[in-house]
Amino acid sequence: MKIQIITLFPEMFDKVLNSSMLWKAQERAGVEYSLIDLREFGIGPRKQVDDPPYGGGDGMVLRPEPAVAAIEYAKKQDPSAVVYLPTPRGKTLKQSWVKQIAGSGEKGIIIFCPRYEGYDERITKWVDEQYSIGNYVLTGGELPAMILVDSVVRLLPGVLGGVTSAEKESFYEDDESIEHAQYTRPETFREMDVPDVLLSGHHANIEKWKSDNNG
Ligand code: SAM
Repeated sequence: MKIQIITLFPEMFDKVLNSSMLWKAQERAGVEYSLIDLREFGIGPRKQVDDPPYGGGDGMVLRPEPAVAAIEYAKKQDPSAVVYLPTPRGKTLKQSWVKQIAGSGEKGIIIFCPRYEGYDERITKWVDEQYSIGNYVLTGGELPAMILVDSVVRLLPGVLGGVTSAEKESFYEDDESIEHAQYTRPETFREMDVPDVLLSGHHANIEKWKSDNNG
């Protein structure tokens, strides 16, 4: 799966994409990351990407020309890729949607990350899906892009590598289900004990406790 991210801040992704499962996903599931610097598509010698909004208002808005040029560039690398736009106006990202994206096989992903007060609405003609990560406002689309990449990539076959099973996790059955609480050593911590059943070695009882304690 090819994942292309269009951003003014490519350096924000270095640590995230090169750590833990997202890094391993490159070898384990053939994930290929590519960061596209929106600034390179900017206008004029100063590579301008933003302008004040028509009609007045606070802040700056991303102009459509650099945004669309960058999306078209990414599409050329992977013509069947789905273009995602993080925005508070979008549909809330849930595990059922994430599963659907991960299950869509080899289809690549392009994520366009807005900044400032947002983007010229006309760019949405080049976007397939608009998603929100919840009812709060961030300074840019980079964190929502990382959330989409992380949640999708860990579901690709081979990525978790048996370390943990996604099928048993929260929200896997449906968008509301929650996994039971977890405990590890020590058995007693500051006068709080691990539930006896988990120490009993009785497999059936443990499984029953887990299922009773799933939300
Ligand atoms: N003026 C916009 C508004 O009031 O809806 C907020 C713009 S925000 C400062 C800049 C960008 O961050 C947004 O265009 C979007 O790409 C991203 N962003 C912020 N909050 C988000 C959220 N909850 N979900 C997805 N993207 C978000």
